[in-house]
Amino acid sequence: MSRPRIVIVGAGFAGYQTARTLSRIAKGAAEIVLVNPHDYFLYVPLLPEVATGTLEPRRISVSLTGTLPGVRLVLGQAEHVDLDGRRIGLTDPEGNHRELSYDRLVLAAGSVNKLLPIPGVTEHAHGFRGMPEALYLRDHMTRQIELADASDDPAEREARCTFVVVGAGYTGSEVAAHGKLFTDALARKHGSLRDREPPRWLLLDVAPRVLPGLPEHMARTTERVLTDRGVDVRMGTSVDEATKEGVHLTSGDFVATRSLIWCVGVRPDPLVGDLGLPVDKGRLCVDEYLNVPGHPEVFACGDAAAVPDLNHPGEVTPMTAQHAWRQGKTAARNIAASYGRGERAPYRHRDLGFVVDLGGASAAANPLQLPLSGLAAKAVSRGYHLMSMPGNRVRTGADWLLDAMLPKQAVQLGLVRSDAVPLENTAPELPARSGG
Ligand SMILES: Cc1cc2nc3c(=O)[nH]c(=O)nc-3n(C[C@H](O)[C@H](O)[C@H](O)COP(=O)(O)OP(=O)(O)OC[C@H]3O[C@@H](n4cnc5c(N)ncnc54)[C@H](O)[C@@H]3O)c2cc1C
Repeated sequence: MSRPRIVIVGAGFAGYQTARTLSRIAKGAAEIVLVNPHDYFLYVPLLPEVATGTLEPRRISVSLTGTLPGVRLVLGQAEHVDLDGRRIGLTDPEGNHRELSYDRLVLAAGSVNKLLPIPGVTEHAHGFRGMPEALYLRDHMTRQIELADASDDPAEREARCTFVVVGAGYTGSEVAAHGKLFTDALARKHGSLRDREPPRWLLLDVAPRVLPGLPEHMARTTERVLTDRGVDVRMGTSVDEATKEGVHLTSGDFVATRSLIWCVGVRPDPLVGDLGLPVDKGRLCVDEYLNVPGHPEVFACGDAAAVPDLNHPGEVTPMTAQHAWRQGKTAARNIAASYGRGERAPYRHRDLGFVVDLGGASAAANPLQLPLSGLAAKAVSRGYHLMSMPGNRVRTGADWLLDAMLPKQAVQLGLVRSDAVPLENTAPELPARSGG
């Protein structure tokens, strides 16, 4: 008898954990196929550390085949799902199309950059969701400091040494906190910049405080660290228009800059919105068993799914790695239950807290609701990340050690160019092909 085929689309937190749990339960009794555009699981929460030279990119890129025995990796981007025919269509990295049938399907395609209809933003801003954008940002910041040093024009020098981050959630706050340290360190190495004001960073958000949605004490710690470091934190402020020369703020100010970093949040991967099934703010609606209503063979989890939050009736779980990871486990168990292995169970979670790493010796954390800041939060944050990563822990730890002892490496490789990371890219995990 042939083995049932379970196809998982997306190898992020949700898809990786679904594949891992299923392979442990199935022990070869099912064919588990993981479809992903690249051959690694990206540990997204440490992306700001890649962008600012603390970690090398491969540290947070965990090999799928190396850590998921018993799971077949199919490299490619799923493009459509034929729910009646139980097949998906995908395109591999060399542009070849193929179809893949399934007995069970898990949709875990994650999210992409959120866009807002603000003039000039899609042309002049870059997002921060995938590895190409992190590599681009590291080079871009290095280049701005080098070009500022080479310029004789004070206005150009100032614009190149000004960095604007929009969105003060955990992504934007971490990018601004790490980015400020990075550019300050770079500027100190350049003769004409060393004795001037350090690079200027602005962090903007329409919300009244940083880290909206996270506990108050974490917001206070984060804002204090940012302002002590010299970041200009402007709440209740956003961008009215972006131009080649700079940004017009909603406050009426104009800030000359060549660097607009867009961290206003994410929206679900468009793949799930195109299925013709009910969605909630673009996320595919599922029941508490992560099952798509009317399609008992289809499951969805992570950022791409609107999962009922049983602890907060009427709400859906937020888009976080913690939820995606634990939902992957639930999806796997419920799929096994659909084949008679174990009992299916609804997705329930206990809030384990959150960590925000602010670079240097600073962090904010609330493990099990215990408010921490400073070195204690830093230790918790690094320990938490190391424990959560499914591989590369020694290499990541070694990079942290080296970063604590050695200066930042001030070189740009120029491998990811500006047009390869457009803000509207619906696949931020891959550089865009030229011409669209
Ligand atoms: C900079 C940053 C920092 C963050 N820090 C934290 C944090 O500290 N703590 C926390 O809890 N959350 C954090 N988050 C949020 C967290 O990363 C996401 O909630 C989490 O990654 C969602 O997991 P997922 O599996 O749904 O999606 P992802 O992890 O994004 O994985 C989706 C996968 O699907 C693949 N994919 C996409 N489209 C297709 C397709 N069509 N076909 C095949 N494969 C596809 C992608 O390549 C990717 O591998 C952070 C996010 C960012 C951007």
